[in-house]
Amino acid sequence: MLTKTQLIKLLGEHQQPTYRAAQILDWIYQKRVQSWEEMSNLPPALRQALAAEYPLRPLTHTLTKGSADTTRKFLLQLPDERYIETVLIPASPALYGEKSDRHTLCVSSQVGCAYGCKFCASGLDGFTRNLKASEIISQIILAEELSGEKVNNLVFMGMGEPLANFTNLTQALEIITSDWGLHIGARRITVSTSGLVPQIKKLALLPQQIRLAISLHGPDDETREKIMPVNQKYPVAELFEALRIWNANKKQKITLEYILIDGINATPQHAEILAKRARSINAKVNLIPYNTVEGLPWVRPSDDHCKRFRNILTKHQVSATLRLEKGHDIDAACGQLRLKKEKENRS
Ligand code: SAH
Ligand code: SF4
Repeated sequence: MLTKTQLIKLLGEHQQPTYRAAQILDWIYQKRVQSWEEMSNLPPALRQALAAEYPLRPLTHTLTKGSADTTRKFLLQLPDERYIETVLIPASPALYGEKSDRHTLCVSSQVGCAYGCKFCASGLDGFTRNLKASEIISQIILAEELSGEKVNNLVFMGMGEPLANFTNLTQALEIITSDWGLHIGARRITVSTSGLVPQIKKLALLPQQIRLAISLHGPDDETREKIMPVNQKYPVAELFEALRIWNANKKQKITLEYILIDGINATPQHAEILAKRARSINAKVNLIPYNTVEGLPWVRPSDDHCKRFRNILTKHQVSATLRLEKGHDIDAACGQLRLKKEKENRS
């Protein structure tokens, strides 16, 4: 899908006036037409030429799991027959109050993931390809169509490492935040990363006030290396250096995501180091009891164990959330549904 600048350039190549850009953007992002054919104020020849180059609907809905009052997971098929997942999470009254109208969409940024974190289903089958900006945007448009709800909160926490797909990510962010595009406020968008240091520094310089979440999962090199190979390239000290740069450029607090895995990263000592780390960059912490993944050995600690871990953070004045309700089957880590489908198709 196209940004305004790209569209103006494209129209120039087709000897068309620039005002057509506004018409086309309106058809695509506001009226949400399904095809170029429907753009009735454009010359037919132009419609045909652009339809051949830029399909408006690159994704096909394959199946939905879950229901309207819980989390819904959409399995979507790409033109090359790969699958991705998009998850729509309704407002949680417990977290945001009874009147919250928050609808959060969790989007994928790649097919598979090259980073191979040992606990994650997305990395299990390796990396296939980056998603195009149009494939990222289409997840939002399709989720809104399928649910009849307006997405007003967006997290890049689906399959893939968004910062490893930097160009397409920033192009998508432009379309998502612009008033000619999907017009979702930058403050309501969170990009989550396993900690790609150079890209964090680059993203910090982007004018939009988007939010950053870091998949930390280990507060020191020794622990983090056990489960996240990326730590060898970008150790904890370097990562936190990049986060200080982020803080110098952005107003919103960073979130540290921390999965609790029994026997790996969940001792009181880990909590103490994590508290120190979080305070050093004024971050909040999101504790996630591990969601079991088929074929992986990791175990979720007991609820009491998770609470004790959280209490240590709170004692150190670190703001920490912990959601104990089970990750429901479909709520479980992104990547699992797609993995199942691709295995089925192969056998
Ligand atoms: N690649 C990016 C974004 C996608 S992962 C990143 O790693 O940040 C989204 C979040 O789900 C990450 O914090 C990831 O660590 C977490 N996650 C992966 N597998 C999980 C599991 N089995 N249980 C709970 N969270 C998991
Ligand atoms: Fe990739 Fe993120 Fe999963 Fe790690 S946690 S394998 S970076 S998707």
